[in-house]
Formats: sequence, C-alpha cells, structure tokens
Amino acid sequence: MTGLYERESRSVSTLAHLRFFPQAVTGGRGSMLRGDDGHDLLDFAASWGAASLGHGHPALAEAVNRALTDQAGASYLSTANEPSVLLAEKLLSLVPERAAGRVWFGHSGSDANETVARAVVAATGRPRIISFKGAYHGGTVGSVAISGHPAQGGIDKASGLSLVPYPDSYASGSPEAASKAALAHIEELFATSVSPQDVAAFFIEPIQSDGGMLVPPPGYFREIERLCRKHGILLVCDEVKVGLARTGRLHAFEHSGIEPDIVVFGKGLGGGLPISAVVGPEAIMNHASTFSFQTLHGNPVCASAGLAVLETIERENLVANAAKVGDTMLSALRALQEKHPVIGHVRGHGLAIGVELVSDREARTPAIEQTALTVYRAFQLGLVIYYVGLNSNVLEFTPPLNLSEEEALRGIAILDQALSDVEAGKV
Ligand code: PLP
Repeated sequence: MTGLYERESRSVSTLAHLRFFPQAVTGGRGSMLRGDDGHDLLDFAASWGAASLGHGHPALAEAVNRALTDQAGASYLSTANEPSVLLAEKLLSLVPERAAGRVWFGHSGSDANETVARAVVAATGRPRIISFKGAYHGGTVGSVAISGHPAQGGIDKASGLSLVPYPDSYASGSPEAASKAALAHIEELFATSVSPQDVAAFFIEPIQSDGGMLVPPPGYFREIERLCRKHGILLVCDEVKVGLARTGRLHAFEHSGIEPDIVVFGKGLGGGLPISAVVGPEAIMNHASTFSFQTLHGNPVCASAGLAVLETIERENLVANAAKVGDTMLSALRALQEKHPVIGHVRGHGLAIGVELVSDREARTPAIEQTALTVYRAFQLGLVIYYVGLNSNVLEFTPPLNLSEEEALRGIAILDQALSDVEAGKV
C-alpha cells in the first residue's frame, strides 16, 4: 500500500472541473496511476469507465499511432474513412438484428443521446419521450433535456419528456416491490396524462449508474420491452457507461434478456479517446445524419481506438474477466458488510458495482458525509473511487476491464481500511 498524500498538487487549481481529488496524474500503466508527487494510485474508477483497457495499453497506443501516421482523412463527413467503416461494421455485427441498420458516430455519450432524441422524434412524428428519474444521459442541453438526474442544474427538460421512477430494490425492500411500483407508475401515466401513441422512445439505462448503480429487478425491463412493442415505442438502450464487457456480458441489456431498437455506446468504446456511437434502424438513423453533423465525426484516430478496444476485449477475454473479477469483488464487498454497519447494500454485475452507505440500516438513511470522507480517505491511501446516487451515498466501482483478482482484493483491502479510519474519526 502506498503512503498518505501530504500535500495538494498546485497544477490542478487551473482546471475548471476538479472532481474529488486535488491531484494531477502524470502517467499510468494498467490499473495503476502515478500522482504528480510520485505516489501510485490503484484506479477503481477508470475515468467513469472510459479507460476500459486501463492505462497505456499497447494495443490502443499502437492503433492510435498507426492511425495518426497513416491518416485516412480527418473525419467521415466528406469522404468515408476505412477505420470508421470497419468500426461501424463491427458494431453492427454485435447488436441485436432489429438495431443492426446504420451507425452514427459522435464524440461523447452526451452528443449521441441528444442525436437519438432528435432522430426518434423526427422519424416517428411522435413528440414525447420517456426516461427515468435519476437517469444521466449527458451534459449537453439536448441530453440534459431527456435526463432525470438532479445534479444537472437549471436546464429545462424537453416539453415532451415524462420521467418515471427507476425501480430501486433496496429502497423498496425487495425487487418484486420495486418492479411493481415502477410499472404501476407507467400504467398510471398512460392512463391519465400521456397517450402511448405520442411517445417516440423510451430511454433506459440497463443499470442506472449515476443514479446509484441501481440494478433492475429480474423481469422489469422485459415488461418495459413488452409495453414498447405494444405501443410502437422505440426502446433506446444507453450502454454508455456499463456496456461493452463491463457487466460481464458484452452488452449490459443482455442481463435483462431484452433487445433494444437503438443502442448507444460511448466512454469505454474509445478506451479513453472521445468517440461515441449510435446503432439503430436505417429509417431512424437517416434522420440522425440529416441534422446532427459535427466536423470530426468518425475521425479515423478515434475509430481506430474503438476497433482496438473491441478487438482487445475479444482477444483478452475481457467479458469473462469482468464477470470473474466482478464476482470476486462482490463477494469480498458483501463480506465487508459484516464488519462495517455503514455498508447498507452491495449490488452490481461484473465490474459495474455500487456500495450504498447508510447511517442506519433499518431506516436506510443515506450516509452522505461518510461517503465523501471514505472516498477521500481511500484516495489518501492510494485507491481511486467515486460516488454516485441521488443522495451521493453510493460508492461506485468501474475499474479497467482487465483488473486482476489480486488488484481487486488489494483495492478492497484499502477500502476496508478507509471505512475503518472514517469510523474511528481519523479523517
Ligand atoms: N450516458 C450515461 C449512462 C452516462 O453515464 C454518461 C456519463 O456519465 C453519459 C451518457 C454522457 O457521456 P459523456 O460524459 O461522454 O458525454
């Protein structure tokens, strides 16, 4: 274990966005980051899952260097380029048949979800969208307008947006109760204020990550899929944070046994480079391409990074690794629950894990301050984690997909120490 950080790095004060840690990193290898004071940090966040292959993966570096050297144009806007065509073909081969029409590339999860919102309304002529309270689909005006996360501030929601509750099995007492209450809400919405025939799309997160790493109850999304099919509503699956191997399946929606009409990828697709992708039926995607263009769409460097990530996921069996190491982490975290009463609930699939901290297990009172202190103490002890959730009381783990068992257990030992230090008032 590395030692405590004694000082704050000066350089970070120049940045507009300083989240969680007063430090700049100067390098990284695998799941380790090097701080600018020479300390090493074990990275259980991977920049919200974006560094899917960890840091400095040779396959990513080689692909990006080759693309820069042999550059095939600068984007696909005027001439298509080979890397983006190959990546589009690859993505089409990975999604359910009903979604396998055309691919649109963007730079972030935000622009991708915003593009989908515009395309589904234009393509169907239906003005309304449904998404979840607590959903985070991005930070641009258009993606905020279809999101339900309270941290997004004062941008108006789309006038046709209906937000429905995401089922929370822990808060509701059981998965069955959570599912029943959440479905009843949608039934009531359709019965009282929204005609399903006016709804173009239902945006879902297969695990609601920024909303608290909420894992949907078994069968819940099958019901949503059934409702969507019944009313001709497009089912849009935002896989930006938890897709592409993270949950121990290639797609997180596979855990729910559903087949979305449109799939949105981002973050981990580029392994740290800015690329997102929307894959959906041709009739919808043609609308995406008519109004949503940006100069560097499908640029060959980021597309090559995406190809390298997908190839590496296959070659290094990262779906299986995420499942195996994720199981180890979930078991170790559940064992920690015996020792630390503040751990109310441990949930997740694969390497998408949430640990909800509560000050009273009976009442499930959010332990907001302890969560922030635990994250900071873990950082001091050499572990990078984040927190999420509507009450900011859920520790979030989205480490690199190639995290080893040894690293997983080492990180959880640091977390154990951090929790003990916070309990003992040492922070
Ligand atoms: N969708 C989900 C599920 C996310 O978690 C995020 C970011 O946290 C986004 C979309 C937005 O992606 P980006 O930050 O790349 O714009």
